[in-house]
This record gives sequence, C-alpha cells and structure tokens, in this order.
Amino acid sequence: MCLTLAAIVLAAGCNAAPTNSPAAMNSSTNSTMKFPFQLTEAEWRQRLTPEQYAILRQANTERAFTGKYWNTKEPGIYRCAACGEILFKADDKFDSGCGWPSFSEIAAQGKVIERDDFSYGMHRKEVVCANCGSHLGHVFDDGPGPKGLRYCINSASIDFGTDTNAPTWSAPDKK
Ligand SMILES: [Zn+2]
Repeated sequence: MCLTLAAIVLAAGCNAAPTNSPAAMNSSTNSTMKFPFQLTEAEWRQRLTPEQYAILRQANTERAFTGKYWNTKEPGIYRCAACGEILFKADDKFDSGCGWPSFSEIAAQGKVIERDDFSYGMHRKEVVCANCGSHLGHVFDDGPGPKGLRYCINSASIDFGTDTNAPTWSAPDKK
C-alpha cells in the first residue's frame, strides 16, 4: 500500500518533467532572439552529436534515467554542451527522483534564459543557455532550495567537469 502511494506521489512529481514536443521545437528555434554565440545550422550539426543536436537545437528531451548525469554526485561544474559556458554547479545538484539532472540554482545570474512553453496544454518554463540559446530543459517551482526552484536539465545539454578552480563565468578580456 505504501509502495503504491509512493509510486503515485513520484509519478505526480514527475508529471512536470519535460517531454518531447513538436510545439516546444518551434518555440525553441532562435529566430526571434539573438545570442552572443551563434552558429549556422550546418555548423551546429557538425559540432554536436545527433542526440545533442536533437535536444539542444530542437528542444527534444532524453528519456528519464537514460542520461549520463542524472545520478552524478561528484563535485564539479556543468557547462553548456553546445558552447562551453558554465551553467550549473554540482553543489546545487540534488536528487529529484525524476531521472534528469536537477539543480536548485544556476551557477550565476543570467546564465540561462527562461521562456514560456505552452506545449502539451501545459504552461512550463523552458530554460535555454543565455550564451547560445540552446535548449537545456525546464524550470519548475517545486525545488528544495530557498528559491524553491528545480532546474530539470537534459544530460545531453551539459558537460560535466571537475575543474572547479578554473576561471569560471567571468568572461575573458577581449583585446
Ligand atoms: Zn550554450
């Protein structure tokens, strides 16, 4: 009985998880927004694996519990898999039980942009990289931290690294 209840609660908690959606794909193309890091579609396809391209550039979603980072607990940082910007810190990663890497915070303000996503008859907030506009996942307001946020991110959208001491999100001086 307890198990059934737990299953229902878990399922309810995961209803807000991202799903594949043609509508999301449309809203995620970057036709209306300009981002500092830009490539042509051909260049994106060359740079990314087919899976990464489908998720980062077409707003697809990997299946729960299949990504490489959903259960990663090591200290480190997570960069945008498309452009290399540091987006999330392992310190802010928590086990949401939903099968996607979940963060209570972004690495620094302005690292991601939120956009309304009305696909599937739901109103969700899509999260994209502020530097290159690539799709990362969604943000929900049922997180555990002080802000109550849960950034539900595709593993394929991020690259994990342990170089926490490396120069982080301060942009290098352009000379
Ligand atoms: Zn990016």
